[in-house]
Amino acid sequence: MVRAWPSGVCAYNSAVVHTGIGYDVHRLVEGRPLWLGGVEIAHEKGLEGHSDADVLMHAICDAVLGAIGHGDIGSLFPPSEPQWKDAPSRIFLEKAAKLVKEAAGSIVNVDATLIAEVPKILPHVPAMKVAVAQALAIPTDRVGIKATTNELLGFLGRGEGMAGMAVAGVNLPD
Ligand code: MG
Repeated sequence: MVRAWPSGVCAYNSAVVHTGIGYDVHRLVEGRPLWLGGVEIAHEKGLEGHSDADVLMHAICDAVLGAIGHGDIGSLFPPSEPQWKDAPSRIFLEKAAKLVKEAAGSIVNVDATLIAEVPKILPHVPAMKVAVAQALAIPTDRVGIKATTNELLGFLGRGEGMAGMAVAGVNLPD
């Protein structure tokens, strides 16, 4: 069905893009591997958490879940459950994508920013895009991944942790 908007623009109203937002923080500790965007990165510290603590994938997962009005990652995969101990966060994204499908939706895109002082993220971005796209079963060019520092300010600037932010667009039936 075609709807005529006051501006004169016509739009198909069979689907509407819903947006979701996600944010996550994990503490950096010694003796843990560093997983970011589904990629293991060589670094002297890793992120602490019940799962692999992939702060970027967690933020993306919450963004996708938010777009379909679902509970957050913690309600889907409670840290109290031993089965998620050291679990690869790819599983969480796969579950979020499955929930989108069950809602008769399709993921339009995700865009995420990692906030960390070190290490350099840029060389790993292409592999992260592939890993995120595969987990969500969407084309790689629908995944945006960026990184920035916190200009040495605050807990992120002191390297005490890393933060991830993400948005997602999901087409849902009108
Ligand atoms: Mg998390």
